[in-house]
Amino acid sequence: MENLNNAEKDRDDIRCDICNSNAVIYLPYAKRSLCKKHFIFSLERRVKRTIREYNFLNGVKHLGIAVSGGKDSLTALYVLNKIVKPAKIKLTAILVDEGIAGYRDKTIKDAKKLCSALRVPLKIYTFKEEIGYTLDEIMKGKKDEAKIKEIKKKGIKNTKGEKKREPSCTYCGVFRRWILNKAAKELKIDKIVIGHNLDDVVQSYLMNVFRNEPFRLARFGPTSGLFEEEGFVPRIRPLFKIPEKEIALYSILNNIKTTFVECPYVNESFRHYVRNFINDLESRYPGTKFNILNNFILTKTLLEEKFKREYGGKEKVIPTCKKCGEPASAILCKKCELLSNL
Ligand code: SF4
Ligand code: ZN
Repeated sequence: MENLNNAEKDRDDIRCDICNSNAVIYLPYAKRSLCKKHFIFSLERRVKRTIREYNFLNGVKHLGIAVSGGKDSLTALYVLNKIVKPAKIKLTAILVDEGIAGYRDKTIKDAKKLCSALRVPLKIYTFKEEIGYTLDEIMKGKKDEAKIKEIKKKGIKNTKGEKKREPSCTYCGVFRRWILNKAAKELKIDKIVIGHNLDDVVQSYLMNVFRNEPFRLARFGPTSGLFEEEGFVPRIRPLFKIPEKEIALYSILNNIKTTFVECPYVNESFRHYVRNFINDLESRYPGTKFNILNNFILTKTLLEEKFKREYGGKEKVIPTCKKCGEPASAILCKKCELLSNL
C-alpha cells in the first residue's frame, strides 16, 4: 500500500516543463513533460506545422473529413475544425457505412453527436446504396439467385466449393476509397482529410514493404497520389506525425466521446499483425516508430522521383473506369473488378 501511495505521489510530482503544474504526459522523443494545457497546445501546433509544411490548405475552400466514428477520425475532425474555423474554410464530415452489424452502427452514433456539437454537416454514404451489398452480405456470400447462377456458370469457386472471396479488408478498403472519392466530387470538396496518425502511417508503410508494392508506397503518404490526377480528390493526412497514444490522450482531455468496439473482421486484417509487431518493437526499442517514419519519408521521396521520371512530367491524366467513370489503373477500376467477381 505504501508502495502504491509512493508511486502515485511520484506521478503527481511529475511537473510540466513549461509551467510547472501537474504533467499529463511525458514525450520521450522531445524529452519533456507537459500539463493538459501545454500538451493540447503542443499537439495542435504540430498539426498546424504539418499543414504549413505540406501546403495542405492552399487553395482549399471546402474540406472533407473522412470519419468512421472512432477515436482517431473524430479527433481529426475536432482538431481540424479548431484550426480551419478561423480560415473560414467550409468543413463537411463524410462517413462511409460498410454495413458491419454491431460495429459501424455503434460508431455512427458517436460521429453524429460530435458533428452536431461542432455544427459540422455529416454526410453518410452506405455500401448498400453505393455498391449494392453490405460488407456483411459480401462476406456471407449472400447474392440474389440470378447472380449465383451466373457465378456458377463462370465456375468461380474455391477449393471448398464456395465462391471465391477476398479478405474482408480488401473489399472494405477498395469500396470505401471509391465511395469517398465519388462523394467528395458530388459535394464539391477540394481535399479529404484522413485521420491517420503516426502508427497508421508506419503500419501502411511496412505493409507496402512486406508486400513489395513500391508504386503503392510512392503514392501513399502525407498526400495521396503521385500527380495531380484528374477525377481524384487528394487525400491529406495532417496528423501523420502524432503518435496514436497522444491522439487517445487528446481525445480524453477534450471530452471527445467514442465507444470502443472492434471490427469483427479485424483478425482477418494484415494490418492487425503488423500493428502488434511494431508495438512490440516500440516497447523493446523506444523510438522505432519515428525511425520507421523518417525512413518512409526518405524512401517515398526517392520512389516518387523514380516514378515521376518514368511517367515523365508532373501531371498525369489517369484513365477512367469503363464501367463507372472513376479513376482506374486498368480498364476497370478495382471496385468494379471486385464487384464483377461477386
Ligand atoms: Fe474494414 Fe477490415 Fe477495418 Fe474491419 S478491420 S473496418 S473490414 S478494413
Ligand atoms: Zn469502376
